Amino acid sequence: MRPTLVLAFCLCLALCLGMAAEARAQSDLRVTLLGTASPSPRANRFGPSTLVEVGDQKLLFDAGRGVPIRMWQIKVPMGKLDALFITHFHSDHVSGIPDLWLTGWLGPEFGRRAAPFRVIGPTGTKPLMENIEKAFAADVKIRLEDEKLPPAGIAIATEEFDRDGVVYERNGVKVTAFQVDHGAAIKPAYGYRVDYQGRSVVISGDTRFSENVIKYGTGSDLLIHEVGSARKELMVNLFAQRIIAHHTTPSEAGQVFTKAKPKLAVYTHIVLLSSATISEPTLGEVVAETRQTYDGPLEVGEDLMAFEIGDTITVKKP
Ligand SMILES: [Zn+2]
Ligand SMILES: [Zn+2]
Repeated sequence: MRPTLVLAFCLCLALCLGMAAEARAQSDLRVTLLGTASPSPRANRFGPSTLVEVGDQKLLFDAGRGVPIRMWQIKVPMGKLDALFITHFHSDHVSGIPDLWLTGWLGPEFGRRAAPFRVIGPTGTKPLMENIEKAFAADVKIRLEDEKLPPAGIAIATEEFDRDGVVYERNGVKVTAFQVDHGAAIKPAYGYRVDYQGRSVVISGDTRFSENVIKYGTGSDLLIHEVGSARKELMVNLFAQRIIAHHTTPSEAGQVFTKAKPKLAVYTHIVLLSSATISEPTLGEVVAETRQTYDGPLEVGEDLMAFEIGDTITVKKP
């Protein structure tokens, strides 16, 4: 073979091998962190929301601020969602619902929902959705008349649950809700576990240290956990004490991970408190505190960080 032909052959082979590797990386269980913040408005972290693409389904867990923007950044049309699951009723987890519901119905490619918007959540989800429907009745009426959008696409199908158990099951995908502990006054509060073909993803929801997260998170592939942290100097402040008491500190989260032993632990809903004079802890400090109690695999989530879950877990940073 002439040297140029050999070179062309080698290039072609390298390209084909690369494509094969890329194809293998596409698993049928993919998780994308759409928003990783708490209520605090941050330009680089939107409200809490996690997309799980599993088998032939797209499931969304919480719909925080900016969820339609993040979904369309990864070219997932809102109209293609199979169900939205709600962990609890704090506004940071549900304030994106009207936008998702209404914008997901519009005619362009990012929307086009033609079937009812399916929402699954704890007791209280029905009144929430009924009231959202009332609040936006004028917009729906206008668009039905003016844009001739399909009435079925703006209908809402809500399902409520009031205890631990399976809340969704379709084509081998099973979603189990489990109670967590977000504080005495913040009930109901749930986390979720998604199971598919022997793989699993667990989302803690908002919680302080919870044995139930350990129970449902044990042996999971991906354990996505919230975290809250403030500097010692700030913890003399009652307001800071109250907020941190509703969340899991990094060293407590480390204990959860050490007991549950997920293949990969991931932080989301990162609560970092500060004041005019006391700065928020750095992410490096959050990790260092976690390392006091956990030495396994850990990622600090960012918006649009994605995880391909197969025999191994591939982390795709945005
Ligand atoms: Zn929250
Ligand atoms: Zn909360």
